[in-house]
Amino acid sequence: MKEDKSKCILCEEVDIDFRKKHPRWIADLRVSTAFLASNQICRGYTVLIYNKAHVTELFQLEKEDRTAFLEDSVKVAKAIYDAYHPHKMNYELLGNLVPHLHWHIIPRQKKDPLELHWPIWGKDYTEVRLSDEEYGEIIKEIKAHLL
Ligand SMILES: [Zn+2]
Repeated sequence: MKEDKSKCILCEEVDIDFRKKHPRWIADLRVSTAFLASNQICRGYTVLIYNKAHVTELFQLEKEDRTAFLEDSVKVAKAIYDAYHPHKMNYELLGNLVPHLHWHIIPRQKKDPLELHWPIWGKDYTEVRLSDEEYGEIIKEIKAHLL
């Protein structure tokens, strides 16, 4: 099911003319686009956005696209894992604030500034913002493992 995408910020972000100029664009995969998250509280934290249409729920995808979206997330997660060897990868598909299918793929380290038994949400902390150059370094580290 496709809904009105005219006011969706993720539809704008994955627009073909826009995404490759984005300073945090990592790569296009089969049915999704990976961007480094602006908040790098966990180094390598990436957002993977479904890019074929404005869709809000996994069950609204045809099986082939749903499978491809999962495979894309696995590919990105493996690259992040290989780059940073985290304690555990976290995968979150929420969309309460931005209802367009997107995975939060978050490498959690034992030395995280956040407690490991909590997701990164709902805690009061200062998000880690970096310069475009610093984002670029992390993107390079992830892309080196994105096969
Ligand atoms: Zn959208």
